[in-house]
Amino acid sequence: MAQIKIENLRKDFGAFTAVQSSTFTVEDGEFFMLLGPSGCGKTTTLRMMAGLELPTSGRIYIDGEEVGQKPASQRDIAFVFQMFALYPHMNVGKNMSYPLLSQGMSRIDANARVAEVARLLGISHILTKPVGGLSGGDRQRVALGRAIVRNPKAFLMDEPLGALDAEFREHMAEELRALHDRMGATTVYVTHDQLEAMQMGDKIVVMNHGVVEQFGVPQDIYDWPASMFVAQFLGSPPMNFLRAHGLVGSGADSLALGEARITIPAQREGLSGDFALGVRPEHVRLNDSASLRGEIIATEYLGTTQIVTVRTSFGEVKARVASDQKVAVRTATGLHLDARNLSVFDAETGRALRSVANQGVLGLG
Ligand code: ATP
Repeated sequence: MAQIKIENLRKDFGAFTAVQSSTFTVEDGEFFMLLGPSGCGKTTTLRMMAGLELPTSGRIYIDGEEVGQKPASQRDIAFVFQMFALYPHMNVGKNMSYPLLSQGMSRIDANARVAEVARLLGISHILTKPVGGLSGGDRQRVALGRAIVRNPKAFLMDEPLGALDAEFREHMAEELRALHDRMGATTVYVTHDQLEAMQMGDKIVVMNHGVVEQFGVPQDIYDWPASMFVAQFLGSPPMNFLRAHGLVGSGADSLALGEARITIPAQREGLSGDFALGVRPEHVRLNDSASLRGEIIATEYLGTTQIVTVRTSFGEVKARVASDQKVAVRTATGLHLDARNLSVFDAETGRALRSVANQGVLGLG
C-alpha cells in the first residue's frame, strides 16, 4: 500500500507541454481517478507515476521517497493497460505465474499465490484454459490477476475497461471497485468517462490541456466546480450557464439577470463585470410565477425524468423535471433556480468565485 504525491509535475515533448505543473496527492488505499478529455495529459501523468516516462520537472513521491528519476522496475507499482497484453501461447495460470517466476519465486509458491488471486477474481475454473478463447471480461480479469499476484504497492490503470461494450463495462467497473474494497490497494485509474469517475472514485483529478482544473471528492467537484470547464465536463446534461453582470452595491453585491437580482453575500473579489451563473438541470424548476421567463423549445423523455430546454434572454437552460409534469413546447414558462445550488463564474477567466462556493448559499433577490 502506498501514498503517491505529485508536486509541480511537468512534461514537455519538444516544444509541446503535455502536463503543466500538476500537484495532487493520492492517499494510501484510495481509488483515485484521473479524468479529462482526450489529449489532456492523463496517460502522460500516469506513465510518469509508473516510471515509463521521465518528468521534465517536478517531483513524484511514493510513501515519502522521491522516485521521479527511478526506473519503473524499482517503484513496485503495477501498470494495467487498456489492451490486455497477455502472452497468447500460455494458459491463464501460466500468464499469471509468469511475473512471479521471473522474479525468482519457486513454482510451488507461485502456484499457491496464483490460486489465491484466482479465487479473489473468481477465475479459478479457467486457470488451465488458453487465453485465446477467453471473453473480453475474463481476459481483463487475467490481466488484473497478473498485476495483483506481485502484490505491488499500487495499481495504475489506463482506461482498463475501454475495450469493453457499455453494458459489460458497467459490470466490470462494479467488480473492479468491489475488488479494490476487498484489497484496499492504492489505485490510480485513468478515464475520460465522467460517470465512471464519479461512480468509482474516492477522489477525482480533472485535467484539461495539461492543467489540473480541480482535485477533490466526486460530490464536491460535481456540486462546486472550480471552473466552467469542470462544470460542463461533469453531469449529463451539463451545468447551465446564464449570462449575468455584477452590480457593486453598498453592503451586499448582486448579480443582475435583466430585472432579477441575485444577492451575493460578502464578495471579497468584488462583483464588477460579466459573470456566468451556473445551475445544474436538477436545480431548475418550471414555475409559472417565477420572474425569470423563457420559452420551452424542446423536451426529451428519459423514463422517470424529462429534460426540458427553455430559451431565455440570458441563454438556454435545461431543466430536469418529473416526466409526469405536463410541458408543452412553444409555450412560455417561468424558471425557478434553487438558490442553494448556484455557482458563479468569472465570464472572462471561467474560474468560479470560491467565496460563493464556500458559503454554498445565495439569496435570490
Ligand atoms: P487519451 O485519453 O487520448 O489517451 P490523454 O489525456 O491520456 O489522452 P496523453 O496521452 O497524456 O493524453 O497525451 C497528452 C498530449 O501529449 C497529447 O497531445 C499527445 O499527443 C501528446 N503526447 C503524448 N505522448 C507523446 C510523445 N511521446 N511525443 C509527443 N507528444 C506526445
